[in-house]
Amino acid sequence: MNLLTIVVPCYNEEEVLPETVKELGNILNNLIDEGKIATDSKILFVNDGSKDKTWQLISKYSNEYPYVTGIKFSRNYGHQNALLAGMTIAVRYSDMIITIDADLQDDVNAIPKMVDKYLEGYDVIYGVRNSRKTDTFFKRRTALAFYSIMKKMGVNLVPDSADYRLLSKRATESLLAFKERNLFLRGMVPLVGYKSAKVYYARKERFAGESKYPLSKMLHFALDGITSFSIAPIHLILYLGLLTVAISIICMIYVLVEKCLGHVVSGWSSLMISIWLLGGVQLISISVIGEYIGKIFFEVKHRPRFLIEKENYTDKMKYK
Ligand code: UDP
Ligand code: MG
Repeated sequence: MNLLTIVVPCYNEEEVLPETVKELGNILNNLIDEGKIATDSKILFVNDGSKDKTWQLISKYSNEYPYVTGIKFSRNYGHQNALLAGMTIAVRYSDMIITIDADLQDDVNAIPKMVDKYLEGYDVIYGVRNSRKTDTFFKRRTALAFYSIMKKMGVNLVPDSADYRLLSKRATESLLAFKERNLFLRGMVPLVGYKSAKVYYARKERFAGESKYPLSKMLHFALDGITSFSIAPIHLILYLGLLTVAISIICMIYVLVEKCLGHVVSGWSSLMISIWLLGGVQLISISVIGEYIGKIFFEVKHRPRFLIEKENYTDKMKYK
C-alpha cells in the first residue's frame, strides 16, 4: 500500500546530512501518521563515493532509525548514476519514488503535495521552482540559454525542474527501460509519458557545504544533455555545406566575369572555384556520414519503442 521511498544522492555531504535526515524523517513520519503512505516507507541515501564521513553517518543513522537505508558506491559515479541506482534498488518495493538532493535546496514541504498528486492518480510529478532568486545571475542566464537551445533542438524539458520529482512505480520501471549510458534524466522523464503534474516550490540556498557541481561539471552536463538527445548539430553541418555550395556558385559567376574582363592573373579563377566548391562538397559529405552515425546513435540507445499505459486484450483473453 503506497510505499514511498525518498532517494537522496550524496557526495561529500557530511555537513548537511544530520539536518537532511531530520527534515526528511519528519516529513516521512507525518505522512505515515496521516495514513497517506505505508508505514514501512523509507529514505534511501546513495553515497556516491564520498571522501568524507558521509557513509559513516548514513550507517549510523540507519542503525538508529528504521526508515533510513543506504547504498554505498565503490567510487564516484556522478549524480545521475546515483539517482538511477537508488531508483533501481527502490523500485522493487516502492509504489512511488521521490528523488531529492541532499543539500535541502529543494523545499521538502513540496513532498506532501507530490504525494497528494500521486494519490489523485498522477504518475509523474515534477518539482518546479517558481523563482531563481537564490541562483547567481550567471547561473540564471546560462540556465535560460540552455533551455532555449534545448527547445530549438527539439528536446522537451520542463523548464526550471531539476531532479526533484515523484515517479510512480510504473513510471520508474519505464524510465529504467531506457538503457542509455549517457544519462540526462530530466530529458528522459518527459519521454516516459503518463499523466503528469507540477508542484511549485521556492528553491533555497544550500543548507551547508559547497556546490558539488562546479562550472566545468555543469558545462559537461549541459553538453551531455544536448548530444544525448539531439542530432541537430549534424543537420547544422548539412546547412553549412549547402550554404557553401551556394556561395561557390556566386563565386564562380564572379570569377568567370572577372576572367572574361581580363582582370585576373592566371590560376586565380580555378583556385577560387575549387576552394569553395570542394569545401561545400566536403561539408555535405560529412553531414551524410553524420546522418548515418546519428541513426546508429539512436539505435545503440536501445530505448523502448513504446510504453503502454493501458491495455485490456490480455485480460479479456485470460477469461476466454
Ligand atoms: N552529487 C552526487 N555526485 C556527484 C555530485 C553531486 O551524488 O558527483 C549530489 C550532491 O550530493 C547533491 C546533488 O547531487 O545531493 C546535487 O549537487 P549540488 O547540490 O552540489 O548541485 P547544485 O545544486 O549546486 O547544482
Ligand atoms: Mg544543490
